Amino acid sequence: MKKLIAGNWKMNGDVAANAVLLQELLSGVRDPACAIAVCVPAVYLAQVQVLVTGSPIELGAQDVSAHEAGAYTGEISATMLKDFAVRYAIVGHSERRQYHGESDAQVAAKVGRALAAGITPIVCVGETLAEREAGKTEEVVKRQLAAVIHANGHCISEIVVAYEPVWAIGTGKTATPEQAQQVHAVLRAQLKAATPQAQRIQILYGGSMNAANAAELLAQPDIDGGLVGGASLKAPDFLKIIAAAH
Ligand code: PEP
Repeated sequence: MKKLIAGNWKMNGDVAANAVLLQELLSGVRDPACAIAVCVPAVYLAQVQVLVTGSPIELGAQDVSAHEAGAYTGEISATMLKDFAVRYAIVGHSERRQYHGESDAQVAAKVGRALAAGITPIVCVGETLAEREAGKTEEVVKRQLAAVIHANGHCISEIVVAYEPVWAIGTGKTATPEQAQQVHAVLRAQLKAATPQAQRIQILYGGSMNAANAAELLAQPDIDGGLVGGASLKAPDFLKIIAAAH
């Protein structure tokens, strides 16, 4: 299976900086061994769509509405994203769960909307530091993924999963390759129980992945790529992570 390296720009960028970053990335990724995506702020989807069309870099969004259409001020529907050739949408990022109170049920509904529109949801799961220290890592990630499987069972093989320990996001603290692999194996087993096609579901690791630690993480048997925040904003670093994914 080809690995996937997806950048999560979060709430960063502007028109000028996006153009520079993408120009640097495009000139560095001529014949990549992995799939690549950049998940950009919604207001820049149109700009980035034009810049990446015809290149190996695919377009991603950072969220999608759980609703189909209508009176939901500020929301962006999956079909709207599809209008801009969006291929991936991050769903249930821990920052959405933490700062916007997104529940497992809402995340599952968002996954359903993305799938119905032909967008691949990158479903984020992960435990907080307190949950890890209480020995609850497995319980938490399995509960988060179970909600998505339960609501979307028939097309669950179309999702991408991202294991992102909350304590490792943006903190510079990375899970060790062994810690990450252990959780990825748990998630793989859960997916296997849900679909005979579990082996082809990409399970990404996210949480302070960078140019120095990517190769070791990506060498683990159940780590099929990375969801990269901070390091995706620096072209040389993101290119090194892409080069490590083969
Ligand atoms: C993320 O935002 O999904 C992420 C993993 O961020 P960082 O790489 O900065 O920890």
